[in-house]
Amino acid sequence: MADVVLKDLEKVFDKNVPAVRNVNLEIKDQEFVVLVGPSGCGKSTTLRMVAGLEEVTSGEIHIDGRLVNDVPPKDRDIAMVFQNYALYPHMTVYENMAFGLKLRKYPKSEIEERVQEAGHILGISHLLSRKPKALSGGERQRVAVGRAIVRKPKVFLFDEPLSNLDAKLRVQMRTEISKLHNKLDATMIYVTHDQVEAMTMGDRIAVMKDGRIQQVADPIHLYENPANRFVAGFIGSPGMNFLEGRIVSDEDTLVFDEGHVRISLPDQMTEAMSPYKDKEVVCGIRPEDIVSINSGKSWENPRDIMARVEVIEPMGSETFLYLTTGTHTFIAKVDAHVEPTLGEEMPLVVNVDKVHFFAKDTEEAII
Ligand code: ATP
Repeated sequence: MADVVLKDLEKVFDKNVPAVRNVNLEIKDQEFVVLVGPSGCGKSTTLRMVAGLEEVTSGEIHIDGRLVNDVPPKDRDIAMVFQNYALYPHMTVYENMAFGLKLRKYPKSEIEERVQEAGHILGISHLLSRKPKALSGGERQRVAVGRAIVRKPKVFLFDEPLSNLDAKLRVQMRTEISKLHNKLDATMIYVTHDQVEAMTMGDRIAVMKDGRIQQVADPIHLYENPANRFVAGFIGSPGMNFLEGRIVSDEDTLVFDEGHVRISLPDQMTEAMSPYKDKEVVCGIRPEDIVSINSGKSWENPRDIMARVEVIEPMGSETFLYLTTGTHTFIAKVDAHVEPTLGEEMPLVVNVDKVHFFAKDTEEAII
């Protein structure tokens, strides 16, 4: 297995539109790193450069300590699993999995052993004589992964491998790939636009936007300490609420004042927020940090927000409320036993210790 180091990596397809900009990332041996971001952010291009399928405009790629910029894909000791599986339709599952090894002139007995082992790991041993057209989407995906496993590569690269599967199968394959990572102790780089996949699978997640990495961190750190407004809004479902307002002082306390929303900041935020006194900031509140006073839980403040209930979405274990203050709409995740009525004016409190603030101009996190 191996580490992968990306240094100052750039890709420009078109002189005016760089696809990947100044990407620096160190993926440790046996680590599972997810590149996540919206469509067009450059994550596939980054992965394809690691695979050698796309030329590097500038910067360096090292795999297991070796500079591979000019090394052809077949000599990089990587295996890639694509979204569209890319199986050969005229070959059986066995032949599809054996194909790469045959090309590399592995002895027949070793090919047999590796294909059987991969079949066993992936639970597809009974499908080895079938052709791809006789397989379900999930089974095809397993074969595509099997074809990567038999190679025993130093690094596995996955490009949105689950996008073609239905929601239930996606969840199942997600856990299977995570288990596979544990079993093989392999270095894996996984590209997805789905933040839930990123959060549930990655040891670390690199969030990308406009060709740049915005933040690299483990899932919980990313969720609790987003570096900027983009990361804060991208990670988490339903997404973080953003309210624009002003920091004002009320006697000795700093207060975030949006007009309809007034949140007194706790003492531990005073130092970081003081430079923003009388300035506009963006306040970020996760839906689970807005609580109905009627729900039984309550914080010290009598209420931070008075908002009208516009939509109610019962999820069973919890309820999503779409609320409006008149100036802002936002989502709260409340206990299922809170039963508001549509149009009701609701008093809400905010778990103020969990509130985030972002500079309005740079959108960088202040706290
Ligand atoms: P998606 O999730 O939609 O696949 P992505 O984050 O993987 O998006 P990339 O496929 O890496 O994004 O594309 C990044 C940018 O580079 C996009 O603006 C895209 O249009 C552009 N791009 C990608 N491949 C090429 C190409 N072969 N020629 C020109 N531009 C390209």
